[in-house]
Amino acid sequence: MNSGATGTIRDNRILKTCPINSTNEMKKVPRGDTDVVVDNIHKILLVRWKDNAVVSVVSNISPVYPLESVSRWSAKDKKKISVSRPYFIGDYNRHMDGTDRMDQNINCYRISIRMKNWWWPTFSWVIDATIQNCWLLHRADESNLPLLSFKRYIAWTYPPQAEPRVGIGRPRQSSRVIPDVRYDNNGHLVEPLGKQAWKCALSSCKSRPSQGCMKCGVPLCVKCFVKYNRRAL
Ligand SMILES: [Zn+2]
Ligand SMILES: [Zn+2]
Repeated sequence: MNSGATGTIRDNRILKTCPINSTNEMKKVPRGDTDVVVDNIHKILLVRWKDNAVVSVVSNISPVYPLESVSRWSAKDKKKISVSRPYFIGDYNRHMDGTDRMDQNINCYRISIRMKNWWWPTFSWVIDATIQNCWLLHRADESNLPLLSFKRYIAWTYPPQAEPRVGIGRPRQSSRVIPDVRYDNNGHLVEPLGKQAWKCALSSCKSRPSQGCMKCGVPLCVKCFVKYNRRAL
């Protein structure tokens, strides 16, 4: 076999007879400790490394050494500490892509709502995977927006569209109208409020309008309507 590969491996894929420290044993060792087993016949290396959790990595191309030192936050010492790490694990992190990267991204901010339906985990995974892919496209296009902010944007953007509501009371949540909705030039219609609002949503205006924007869900006077929904250049 001529192709080289490095990847993480699940504990249940490692034979019980493999003479490497078990995950439970590795949990007790100090952070940065490494245990190594080499299969000289198949030229495969198995490494268990203790970081925040225990990581198992196999490779048929990379050597364990040199060790590099990485900076980690220690919850116990309440400061950054330096932890040693086999160089090829860092190499794997730097070059991993595709499925591994997707799994890692999804795991960061997985949908945490639990349901009893059998299909729920698959369904919520599809949403997570779709959002992850959209985020990658968004990043490739223009921005450095973190995944968490991207997910927040989605959560903010869609509910107001599904249920437009114009508030007449003191404007408390006007900051919830995110720019992507406010300036999208689509479906911003005047709606009568039936009552005079507390204040126009345009911060520079002090009038009390009796109509508002249906999509943004904020009170607006007629003269402020365009100003509010057009991005200032
Ligand atoms: Zn609007
Ligand atoms: Zn106004």
